Amino acid sequence: MLQNINEQKNTLSFEVFPPKKDGEFESAFQILDSLGLLKPDFISVTYGAGGSRSGRTVEIASYIRNHLGIDAVAHMTCVGSRKEDLLRVAESLGEHHVEYVLALRGDRPRDMSDEQYASRDFAHASDMMEFLKKNTRLRMAGACYPEKHYECFSMESDLNNLLKKQQAGAEFLISQLFFDNDYYYAFLEKACRKGITIPICAGIMPITSSKQIGTTVSLSGSSVPKALADLIANYGDSKEDMRKAGIDYAIRQIRDLQENGVKHIHLYTMNKPKMAGEIARAIYRQQN
Ligand code: FAD
Repeated sequence: MLQNINEQKNTLSFEVFPPKKDGEFESAFQILDSLGLLKPDFISVTYGAGGSRSGRTVEIASYIRNHLGIDAVAHMTCVGSRKEDLLRVAESLGEHHVEYVLALRGDRPRDMSDEQYASRDFAHASDMMEFLKKNTRLRMAGACYPEKHYECFSMESDLNNLLKKQQAGAEFLISQLFFDNDYYYAFLEKACRKGITIPICAGIMPITSSKQIGTTVSLSGSSVPKALADLIANYGDSKEDMRKAGIDYAIRQIRDLQENGVKHIHLYTMNKPKMAGEIARAIYRQQN
């Protein structure tokens, strides 16, 4: 439950992505059914930066909220949207009883011209949050970056911008994925000194195939520590060994976070319920 975050209890939440095609909802629902059995505190659903497929995010979030009875957080990006587009999505979420959004700027789509980018309605996620706060009943979370956002010239400046999200009404934050906990601990300390008091969920992505490093991970800008690079070098060629080693790395990473007082873990499930289950069971054993 999202309430557990506000009450500072330990939480485990998941991220999923919506189906890429309209004909794939049935299998997406089956994945969600399996994830639901793990009783996460909430499930967040990604959103295309352009916003044109927002209906799929709403439909998946609605299934999580209304069919599974689990709190849903719908991601929402503003880089390619006008005010009226966001209001339409907000209304649709409201009709489906989805209360929370992860309010994001999004990355500039490749086909967006300089003119379109310069004249967008919202420059930053915090501008969108102010707008949503004033004009809708949505509750909001924001994104944060333990190794700083790639566009920002310094961590100090990125944290000043992060503080604006808290001031604009974000109730909690979800972090970019990271593999080196030391970066996360340093980030938490700096965020605390900056006056960020809202709960922060640590974003963990298990690396179960060497291909992920070239795609998702390089896009995230997160550094790959030697222990993980060695693991990929040793097991990358064997599908099953890499899967096991990657899950084991994520479990050890989460245990270390928990031992160091981190209460909220957000797992990037990549729509893989079996993997999420193995990790969830290992963590619950640790907690009980
Ligand atoms: P912002 O908070 O606007 O920050 C972007 C940059 O602008 C930063 O460098 C920041 O320091 C700077 N900045 C912020 N506010 C100000 C200000 N007031 N003045 C000057 N500079 C400012 N993308 C998707 O397309 N769909 C998704 O579903 C999605 N889910 C995500 C989930 C998580 C947990 C995370 C961490 C990222 C996700 N992203 C997603 C990626 C995200 O859209 C990109 O990282 C994007 O580049 C930044 O989004 P933001 O909301 O953090 O932007």
